[in-house]
Amino acid sequence: MSSFYLAVDLAPTRLTAGIVDGSGTVVLRDRIAATGRQAVPDLIRLVRRVLAAGPSPVLACGVAFSGEVDPIEGVVHSRRDPVWSGVRLVELLSSAIDLPVAIDSRGRASVLAERWCGAAVGRRNVMLMVIEDAVDAGIITDGRLLRGRSSQAGQIAHLVVEPGGLACRCGGDGCLDVYVGASALQIETGRELARTPLAIIERSGIMVGRAVASLAAALDLDLVLLSGGVPNVFGDAMFAALERELEVRLKLAHLSGLNVTMLGVESVGTLVGAAALARAVAPTVG
Ligand SMILES: [Zn+2]
Repeated sequence: MSSFYLAVDLAPTRLTAGIVDGSGTVVLRDRIAATGRQAVPDLIRLVRRVLAAGPSPVLACGVAFSGEVDPIEGVVHSRRDPVWSGVRLVELLSSAIDLPVAIDSRGRASVLAERWCGAAVGRRNVMLMVIEDAVDAGIITDGRLLRGRSSQAGQIAHLVVEPGGLACRCGGDGCLDVYVGASALQIETGRELARTPLAIIERSGIMVGRAVASLAAALDLDLVLLSGGVPNVFGDAMFAALERELEVRLKLAHLSGLNVTMLGVESVGTLVGAAALARAVAPTVG
C-alpha cells in the first residue's frame, strides 16, 4: 500500500503545501500568497484543504521554513517577517491536523531531499546551498546531517567572503549574504533580480566560489549543490565566474574530486525537502 506525506514550504511571500508519495514525487500542490497577520490561520486552512483533496494514508507532516528555526522545540523565527517570530508551529500544526510534525530550515530539508531521491543519492559528504532572499545551507558529513549546538549548523549567510567589504545587516561586513542574497542585491542595484548587471552577477559567482572553496576544504566535501532563485536567474554567467574562482582556490589535494553543480530545474524542490523531514517522524508502516 502506498503512503504519503504532507509537505509544507513556508517562504516570506508564499505558503505552499502538497502531498508527496513514498518515492519523493509531488502528487498534489496548492499555494497561497502569504497574508501578513493572517498567515498562521491561512496556513492551517491550506493544509486542511490539501489533506482533504489528496490521497491517503498521510503518515506525517514536514515543514521547510525559510528563516531561523529551532527544530527541537518546533519554533520558527523570522526577523524579516515578524508574523512568524516565536510561533510554535509544530505544536500548532500537530494539534490542528492530528499528525506527527517535523520542521527544519529550508537548507537542511533540501539536502535531505536530494540525498533521498535527487542529485545526492548515495553521497555521504555533501552541502546544498540555497541562494534566495537570504542564503542558507544544509550539510551532510559522514552520512549525517549537521545540526550544531543550537540547531543552526548550515547558516552560511555571514561567512566572510570579502574582508572589509560591503556592510551587512548582521553588523559585520563582507558577508556572503550581502553579495548573493536576492534582497541585498536588489537593494544594491535598485533593480529586480532579472535585470542585475553582468558585473554584479559575475561578482556573485566569485563570492559563492570563495564560500564553496572554504567550506569544502574545511568540511572535506565531495559534492556541493547550488539551488534557489538567484542561481536560477543568474544562470551560466554566475556559474562561469564561480568555476573560474574555483580553479584558483581548489588546489588542495583533498579537493581534487570536488563536484560543484547548479541544480536549476533538476532540483527535487522544497516540498520534497519537507516530505524528507516528515519521513523522519512518520510511524513505521507494518
Ligand atoms: Zn553578515
